[in-house]
Amino acid sequence: SSVSQDQTVPSAQGIENVVIIGSGPAGYTAAIYAGRANLKPVVFEGYQIGGVPGGQLMTTTEVENFPGFPEGITGPDLMDRMRNQAERWGAELFQEDVEFLDVKTSPFTVQSSERKVKCHSIIFATGATARRLNLPREEEFWSRGISACAICDGASPLFKGQVLAVVGGGDTATEEALYLTKYARHVHLLVRKDQLRASRAMQDRVFNNPNITVHFSTETLDVVSNTKGQMSGILVRKADTGEESVLEAKGLFYGIGHSPNSQLLEGQVELDISGYVQVEEGTAKTSVEGVFAAGDVQDYEWRQAVTAAGSGCIAALSVERYLASNN
Ligand code: FAD
Repeated sequence: SSVSQDQTVPSAQGIENVVIIGSGPAGYTAAIYAGRANLKPVVFEGYQIGGVPGGQLMTTTEVENFPGFPEGITGPDLMDRMRNQAERWGAELFQEDVEFLDVKTSPFTVQSSERKVKCHSIIFATGATARRLNLPREEEFWSRGISACAICDGASPLFKGQVLAVVGGGDTATEEALYLTKYARHVHLLVRKDQLRASRAMQDRVFNNPNITVHFSTETLDVVSNTKGQMSGILVRKADTGEESVLEAKGLFYGIGHSPNSQLLEGQVELDISGYVQVEEGTAKTSVEGVFAAGDVQDYEWRQAVTAAGSGCIAALSVERYLASNN
């Protein structure tokens, strides 16, 4: 352990050292580090995603790029291990959503439907939610044809060598389309508007790639399946003519953006125009001293399990320093 016992006794007057909000890779990694530093972290795990803790990876099958698992590991299994590791180091876990937060007065207040906790510091790790189209058959084909992450799923046997489609017209969608050309036979980019929003450079790369076909003014209505129940195509409609048709494709990737789960902090710490928590570059520090942020809620760029875990580590070590210097 990197810290001595004496500076880390549980706080007096029922004020916790640190409350961690969120149970993805960022929250659990922060809990492991804070636990090992004897800070006795209190974790509000939340249950918004599918009614279980564990965050976004609970919605996926194989995770092939988290270091230490050369054969891959399922998302739920990986999160279960992180959870156990946090518990082993003394994190107190509550499967409750935080419903109210006050970081304007110190000690801070964190409240769920079950309890109210006062604390000296907070690690905010509530993640982000990949926006969905809410297609009629979306649930049925989620992770079985429909994906929200090309980097995560592009190389999967389900998609390799197949014709795939990406929906969206911004940087995320164009990035995903280009990435998928490494594995796919061909990639269709389905754009609702009559132009791309992506940067000029990305547009050039897309238009110059013979393996990408851009379909403008095209609405994505649903996916269709073959007699074996596998996804086989996408039902689209031309905005100008209203004409509907089926585009053959074995996969549909959403590139329509993410929403950071930062509503609780609105009006209390600085958020950027898209709602991401603003942290001082290269740190986990928000605009309020003692409030730290980690993972996808403060990261619109990388959004990976390992980067979320890394930033959770930075946040916990920062809390340790913060508490030591304020004692
Ligand atoms: P999240 O995982 O989003 O977790 C946030 C947590 O906060 C959730 O548990 C949520 O319930 C909780 N929470 C939210 N609001 C509250 C509240 N008010 N109170 C309490 N708790 C709250 N990345 C990879 O590296 N490899 C992959 O193979 C991969 N596959 C993916 C597949 C899919 C389908 C998706 C959607 C993402 C995938 N990712 C993958 C990305 C990865 O899941 C995220 O980058 C990572 O989970 C972010 O971690 P996080 O801890 O920031 O937040």
